[in-house]
Amino acid sequence: MPRLVSHPDEVKIVTSRFGKGAAKIDTYIELGGYAAARKALEQGPDWIINEMKASGLRGRGGAGFPTGLKWSFVPKVSAKPKYVLVNGDESEPGTCKDHLIFLHDPHAVIEGTIIAGLAIGAKTGFIYLRGEYRYLIEIVERAVADAYAKGFLGKGIFGGDRETGTEFQVIVQTGAGAYEVGEESALMESLEGKRGVPRIKPPFPAVVGLYGGPTVINNAETIATVPHVLAMGGAAYAAVGSERNGGTRLFGLSGHIARPGVYELPMGYSLRKMIYEVGGGVRGGRALKAVVPGGSSTPVLLPEEIDIGMDFDQVGKAGSMLGSGGVVVIDDQTCMVEFALRTISFYQHESCGWCIPCREGTDWLKKSLTRFHAGFGTMKDIDNIQYLAENMMGRTFCPLGDAAAMPTLGFVKKFRREFEEHLNGKPCAFARHVELAVV
Ligand code: SF4
Repeated sequence: MPRLVSHPDEVKIVTSRFGKGAAKIDTYIELGGYAAARKALEQGPDWIINEMKASGLRGRGGAGFPTGLKWSFVPKVSAKPKYVLVNGDESEPGTCKDHLIFLHDPHAVIEGTIIAGLAIGAKTGFIYLRGEYRYLIEIVERAVADAYAKGFLGKGIFGGDRETGTEFQVIVQTGAGAYEVGEESALMESLEGKRGVPRIKPPFPAVVGLYGGPTVINNAETIATVPHVLAMGGAAYAAVGSERNGGTRLFGLSGHIARPGVYELPMGYSLRKMIYEVGGGVRGGRALKAVVPGGSSTPVLLPEEIDIGMDFDQVGKAGSMLGSGGVVVIDDQTCMVEFALRTISFYQHESCGWCIPCREGTDWLKKSLTRFHAGFGTMKDIDNIQYLAENMMGRTFCPLGDAAAMPTLGFVKKFRREFEEHLNGKPCAFARHVELAVV
């Protein structure tokens, strides 16, 4: 069971109920739960979407798309039923935040799903849980059953008439454990009982999504934030974060860090402070070699690149991405060639095989890096690894191809010398230490 951590710089909004027994519905209600959904029902869709737009909340799954704007794309009138889909298929290495939400505050996800449904006029929401999160299924299903028993879900929610009142149903679905299904259209395929591979876009889910109906799909952290946004007011939530990046974020600090854990910090919080003050610095007092700022698919940053604020725009400007908020700290004893190999091994394993650049590219990159790390590479291999990764970028059917290529390019470009030192059968100077850096 993950332990809860704390630091004075945290601004606890999404985590405000963690450790308080809020998985029990009566406790959740005592702590203010379901008041935002009641208010949303009274105020109506336009008010909800305007508050969401004012909040500056951007998708916490990785893409960072503004939530209110996304909801506003759903057509008001549709011949087909509309759906809300919660992406709880958290699988990015280095990322471990959504499971804490499901564990400590599952009703926040349910309440956020109801509000999203009210905003777009949907009567059904699905919570799609990662298959490996078996221990959470019972907790989330119990929370859903309790919400039905209280009349917060079903026909005539929050005291409405069963015939004429508002209806909203929630269904919990689990995956079978595939990283690719975290991609929104692959998730919808999986939910429909098909092979979890992405769909051609356009049309986008807001118009043609689950079962062909308009669908809003949001990450679990995004959805769990929604009731807080409405409770605080969109403008107040926006004021917590940085420009164009409203509110807080759950950052997962892992790797060679003294105090690993998930911390809720304002958007735009300094990466340097996050590592050295919140996380207590590099474990064992060692020197920092690199940081993966937003989950394993984001390009690595060097120690001289960490004086940035952690929001979508500032990390993007620094040449990487905020991604899923999984910050992996790497110390000076780590072999970056092996780190690159570990990373690509994950993507090679998780490639769904649907398109050639990803299926073949990840396989070749893994083979090349394996040979290279074993000391059997040549100088030309370094260029070939770079060439392969560059040719995957933007040429794959879904973002997994880029997710594999981008970090590889970062490792080769920023640690080329370390790659060169592996040539001519020279054994790796940092044998096996990398295991500790990858969560
Ligand atoms: Fe599948 Fe990879 Fe192509 Fe995505 S990029 S569709 S994961 S093969």
